[in-house]
Amino acid sequence: MRVSNEGHQKVTARHLARSAYLYVRQSTMRQVMENTESTERQYALRQRAVALGWPSENVIVIDSDLGQSGASAADRAGFQKLVAEVGMGRAGIVLGLEVSRLARNCADWHRLLEICALTDTLILDEDGIYDPAHFNDRLLLGLKGTMSEAELHLLRARMRGGLINKARRGELRCRLPVGFVYDGLGRVVLDPDQQVQESVRLLFQTFSRTGAAHATIKHFRNQGLLFPTRVGGGPRKGELSWGPLCLGRVASALHNPWYAGAYAFGRSRCRKQPDGRVRHEHLPVGEWLALIRDAHAGYLSWEEYVRNQQRLQTSAKALHFDRSQSPPREGPALLQGRAVCGLCGSRMHVRYGTRRGQRIPNYVCLGRGRDFGDALCQSIVGTRVDEAVGKLLVEAVTPMALEMSLAVQQEVERRVDEADRLRHRQVERAQYEADLARQRFMHVDPANRLVADSLETEWNARLRALDEARDDYERQRAADRLAVDDDARRRILALATDFPAIWRDPNTPDRERKRMLALLVEDVTLIKQRQITAALRFRGGATTTLTLARPLTAQQLRATHPDVRQQIDALLDEYTDAQVAHILNERGLRTGAGDSFDAVSVQWVRTTAKLTGLKDRLLAAGMLTTMQLSKMLGVERTTICRWRVQGLIRARICNGLGEWLYWPPEPTPPYRKSPTKRALDRAKGSSRVRGAV
Ligand SMILES: [Zn+2]
Repeated sequence: MRVSNEGHQKVTARHLARSAYLYVRQSTMRQVMENTESTERQYALRQRAVALGWPSENVIVIDSDLGQSGASAADRAGFQKLVAEVGMGRAGIVLGLEVSRLARNCADWHRLLEICALTDTLILDEDGIYDPAHFNDRLLLGLKGTMSEAELHLLRARMRGGLINKARRGELRCRLPVGFVYDGLGRVVLDPDQQVQESVRLLFQTFSRTGAAHATIKHFRNQGLLFPTRVGGGPRKGELSWGPLCLGRVASALHNPWYAGAYAFGRSRCRKQPDGRVRHEHLPVGEWLALIRDAHAGYLSWEEYVRNQQRLQTSAKALHFDRSQSPPREGPALLQGRAVCGLCGSRMHVRYGTRRGQRIPNYVCLGRGRDFGDALCQSIVGTRVDEAVGKLLVEAVTPMALEMSLAVQQEVERRVDEADRLRHRQVERAQYEADLARQRFMHVDPANRLVADSLETEWNARLRALDEARDDYERQRAADRLAVDDDARRRILALATDFPAIWRDPNTPDRERKRMLALLVEDVTLIKQRQITAALRFRGGATTTLTLARPLTAQQLRATHPDVRQQIDALLDEYTDAQVAHILNERGLRTGAGDSFDAVSVQWVRTTAKLTGLKDRLLAAGMLTTMQLSKMLGVERTTICRWRVQGLIRARICNGLGEWLYWPPEPTPPYRKSPTKRALDRAKGSSRVRGAV
């Protein structure tokens, strides 16, 4: 056999004295499970090594990398061990399957071959035996590698090309979204499971009714409904599983054109990033690899699908969820991007409200709410928090910044001194060597011209070195002094003193203030309980906790001042709501909202403060209504009105409706006689009198 002859020529006693290393590699666990044949081939190489003369106990198998991807050597302990053994010259030969192919594709293997060449280690694969130190073998390894790489490329291109063509024709089988299955003929049909169909239908119906993904989630949750999904992998692959509907599922269903009966392929693209992570990006419809409308039965029409897309887009914009259109960073919310929810740990969003024409920032934690339709985690009015944080910075930063800048300065100076000392040592050393050279020259016998000459040259060289060292030293010293001159010192100090002024200056844009905050503060954790707690974490680790009263609600803000309320209370003993309003206005008082009073606003204050009105107070004081009095006296209500007009009984108006109240009649009323006569008349049955009254 040619190979073995050749092999015997290459294998020497030196190689045989060292061990043979068999590297068994299988990239994925699946290959390990399914591709036992290749593993067997790898172990068969061991017999080749024995045939070449290695004692079988000297053939070391490295197979700890089974099931590891070949992408990088970093996490393949076996390969690293192999490299180490080869590097230390312990290996006489390395055995592996398709070493030549690996050598071209994989940088790690290429490096291994180079180490093999240096340590005189042979390589053996199924095709033959190579000595990497030999030019011919290196050439062969390289050539075979290039060819296999080309082969691989063609194979891949052919596969991908075929795939894309198939997809363009709508023939490529894809992983179907839940609600669809392939029938026996490979056609896409609606899932025969009625529950699945109904769930999917309900999702689209609820969305078209409510127009919001959130409302859809909420509806499912309130109704206690689950949504199906197909298990994507693992032993239960393809099985149905039911779980609560979340935003991700709603969104992917609403965005998925398959539900509209369209065959779509290549809607997104994966891009490898420099840090090795893979970024998934969604492509606009125009860039999809394939889109075939009316390819199969669907759950909604294409027009509905397009309308849903537009609705989702508008609501995303309205809620600021659209990342590409994040709210302008000019807003006054100081803690934008720095507020962390103390209840659940999420980042808090900023939403602006308007109160009396001013933009009021609100820090809102959506918590799990966004995904599962729960209520908001917490929402905190930002005005006071921002104020308090700003105040704290102005107070805390001045001494802190001073201290910090001074510490930095001291540190810089200390380093300069240290460097200065070290550099001066060099000068001293040059001085010492120059002195030594001078002494040697002085002590030599002048007659010994040759020695004297060389010593003189050396002395000169030493003197030159000394000069250079001195120059160097001075130059560096000057440069260092420049680094912390007075001007810089003044600027550092100014920074600390200027900060409060800049912060408070109304002309400083909010954006700049936020930038300053970002330089100083890592994040602010907010919790709203009875009070609001804001825990500031400064850059550098220091923390401070602020406690604030909860801001007043809009209603509380509009509430009437307690003092005014007292006055109203006092006035109500005597006056109607309208009269009270008039008096308050005359006194120059204003409502909580800053308006002048009227009957309605006084009534509002009465209702909220649970104050009784004039009528109730008078009744409580013993006054009677017309009805009550007429019953008590046994006369008609109209009679009482007449007596009032005639001034026979005491009465007064008790509200804005012109309702009268009467003081109860005295024991011997002055009007008794007259009414008695009339009462007698009436007793005679004169309906005329009654009618006339
Ligand atoms: Zn939260």
